[in-house]
Amino acid sequence: MIYLKTPSEVEKMRRSSQIIGSLLDSLEAIIKPGVNTLELDEYAEQFIRSRGGIPSFKGYQIPGLKPFPGSICASVNEAIVHGIPRRDLILQEGDIIGIDVGVLLDGYHGDAARSYRVGKVSMAAEKLLSITEKSLYIGIAAAIPGNRIGDISHAIGSFIAASGYFVADGLTGHGIGKSLHEEPQIPNIGRAGRGPRIAAGMTFAIEPMVNIGTNHVVEQGWEFKVADNTLSAHYEHTILVTDGEPEILSAAPKAALHEEKHI
Ligand code: MG
Repeated sequence: MIYLKTPSEVEKMRRSSQIIGSLLDSLEAIIKPGVNTLELDEYAEQFIRSRGGIPSFKGYQIPGLKPFPGSICASVNEAIVHGIPRRDLILQEGDIIGIDVGVLLDGYHGDAARSYRVGKVSMAAEKLLSITEKSLYIGIAAAIPGNRIGDISHAIGSFIAASGYFVADGLTGHGIGKSLHEEPQIPNIGRAGRGPRIAAGMTFAIEPMVNIGTNHVVEQGWEFKVADNTLSAHYEHTILVTDGEPEILSAAPKAALHEEKHI
């Protein structure tokens, strides 16, 4: 069943999700050649805990694997998602890295991800990132009352295909709230007009994972990689369906000064 959130539940999700938005913004200045992904993980854990949050991913369990050790997933180049932070994975000029973060605060989760450029990247990488990011916002725009989940999937998937890229097989977005992963699943490819109907009060983590060379994926422990080792990008927001435009919950809060100007 898809849970509709009350305004007070939404406010809790807004606060957990905003921590992620702020963290992802602050990583822009930290991600550079020579930094290893365990350093990024340590920075993120401190950032989250100092704001009262708990990293949702740390200790996350799925059958057959050791609990996830990181506070973030750090997925470099051909890694799609769920990369384990490592001291010996040192970022190089021209790499791309997807950082995925979950935060639990006051009983409610937020979940968001962003792909970053390490120094100057190739034109091919630049284009992949910009198309993948754009597909996220195209998907979010379809999360309106009266539409169905398939409309989000179709919006993302058709844009990616028309752009000449590939949606990673089997990896989907999801509902989110008291649990990190709630119904419904939100595939990044699908048929318009299919699936559960979308209603105000639903909260979704929409997350296109897009590859250059193929939709095929290979699982190596936690990590999913592109089967042909081409690059992959990942962008994700936690959003609220409203009666109007969807609200992005996992954006950094606007500066108080900025808001005062509009009173
Ligand atoms: Mg997610």
